Amino acid sequence: MATLEIRDLHVSVGDGADATEILRGVDLTVQAGETHAIMGPNGSGKSTLAYAIAGHPKYEVTSGSVTLDGEDVLAMSVDERARAGLFLAMQYPVEVPGVSVSNFLRSAVTAVRGEAPKLREFSKEMKQAMDALAIDPAFAQRSLNEGFSGGEKKRHEILQLEMLRPKVAILDETDSGLDVDALKVVSEGITRFASGDTGVLLITHYTRILRYVKPDFVHVFSAGRLVAEGGPELADELEEEGYEKYTKAGASL
Ligand code: ADP
Ligand code: MG
Ligand code: MG
Repeated sequence: MATLEIRDLHVSVGDGADATEILRGVDLTVQAGETHAIMGPNGSGKSTLAYAIAGHPKYEVTSGSVTLDGEDVLAMSVDERARAGLFLAMQYPVEVPGVSVSNFLRSAVTAVRGEAPKLREFSKEMKQAMDALAIDPAFAQRSLNEGFSGGEKKRHEILQLEMLRPKVAILDETDSGLDVDALKVVSEGITRFASGDTGVLLITHYTRILRYVKPDFVHVFSAGRLVAEGGPELADELEEEGYEKYTKAGASL
């Protein structure tokens, strides 16, 4: 059973004297099949957590550890992280000139599986995944630089999930401008994966998506730390009362 373990993670951005510590000791365990929502005010460090796990070069892990089934994720290249079974939506650029969705997915699948799937089998697999997600077959031939709408970006994200079948998916839902259609696509997709073996870490500022996706655990992020955790009822409380209670100076778990 897959386990992602984050232990006392400290992350800084900036160089030398300009370095600022953003994450100040994050502990979190995500097991196969669990859905964890990370919520918190803007600027609290939620995306920094996702970028650090993704291996973004701007985010320096100064101490702590991230392991997937005991393997040191922080020692892995970005490709190795994907091959180990981590899905990080932001590691796949959505704007790639002249590359179709289909070609992009085949490259991603090749990178994760370590060998190129046979074209015929890949096409069949992609068609099944698209059918399951009610995606128009023409979408596969769209160019990645064609200017996807919010909903299309989300469809693409969920299609990648379906094709790559990661052990743990980290989804940073930064887009506050998602329309209802896009929200439905991403929610249904996440719910499908969350009901299977995939562990899901859903990062969001808004409680809106949690009306559609029921998390097993809700964590509150404030000033680079997790300061509260609970079940789905915590999301309801945050919706009614906001983050204020958790962002007062000194608030701590
Ligand atoms: P959230 O996703 O919770 O809104 P972020 O992780 O994006 O928060 O940002 C947390 C803090 O780190 C903010 O103060 C932000 O300005 C800072 N920060 C994030 N990324 C960078 C970066 N690349 N360079 C400088 N500061 C950054
Ligand atoms: Mg510490
Ligand atoms: Mg963010």
